[in-house]
Amino acid sequence: MSKTNKSHGRLAIRPTLRARELMTNTPDIVGVWKAKVITLFPESFPGVLDRSLTGKALQDGLWQLETIQLRGYGIGKHKDVDHPPAGGGAGMVLKPDVVGAALADARRATPVDPKAWPVVYMSPRGKPLTQAMAQEFSQAQGMTILCGRFEGVDERVLEEYNVQEVSLGDFVLTGGEIAAQAVIDATVRLLPNVLGNADSTVDESHSNGLLEHPQYTKPAEWQGRKIPEVLLSGHHGNVDKWRRGMAEKLTKERRPDMWKAYQARKDT
Ligand code: SAH
Repeated sequence: MSKTNKSHGRLAIRPTLRARELMTNTPDIVGVWKAKVITLFPESFPGVLDRSLTGKALQDGLWQLETIQLRGYGIGKHKDVDHPPAGGGAGMVLKPDVVGAALADARRATPVDPKAWPVVYMSPRGKPLTQAMAQEFSQAQGMTILCGRFEGVDERVLEEYNVQEVSLGDFVLTGGEIAAQAVIDATVRLLPNVLGNADSTVDESHSNGLLEHPQYTKPAEWQGRKIPEVLLSGHHGNVDKWRRGMAEKLTKERRPDMWKAYQARKDT
């Protein structure tokens, strides 16, 4: 069943198609960043990625999404994908022959160099996702993301395919799908022309080593609370100074780790 779920050559991309249809049926568009997602639940894609700016960008062909149904590589009449852990213990582990076959298919026609095409397993054991990682992913031609379920995947398949483990944070999800959507979202919004205002990725939290300053918009007064005077002054120099000051203050208070790194960089 998986094989029908994968891209198979259609020649033109029709912008009128809904994102969900685009996801399963488009041929590769050369030079367009692509996410290949291996999952037991392809129907959970594009999920939230089909909304707003990422959704519009998908429709406009600024990025591509392909889901690979892991179940399709399942073994035997029941298409088994998992088995109890060697050595005993709770739960089930995704089988290396099943996951390996899906990764082999995903690798077809993609570069083997992990810089050009990272292969990532969403995992609570992984390196925590950062803006710098999203930057790197956005500079690749695309990436393959493996979504785990149950107790995870057989270790050997991670070694064999040189898979990097990436975590959404120090907590445990039921599956990798939500995490994969987070990675794709963070990456896609850095691709050229996806955000309306390219500047917004320069100044935002985690791009310049600082958290972002507070934001305000109309009405000028709400529940007795006023927008800080300087933001209404029209004096750009003062606005910039205020924002920088607030960004520094927030970073210092909330993220001593970032503040330390920021100061160390400033001193060199
Ligand atoms: N037994 C594993 C957890 C498995 S959770 C362990 O203790 O490390 C099931 C799947 O959810 C994982 O295979 C992974 O793909 C996904 N997942 C869970 N937590 C995650 C996190 N913090 N970041 C990214 N993926 C996560």
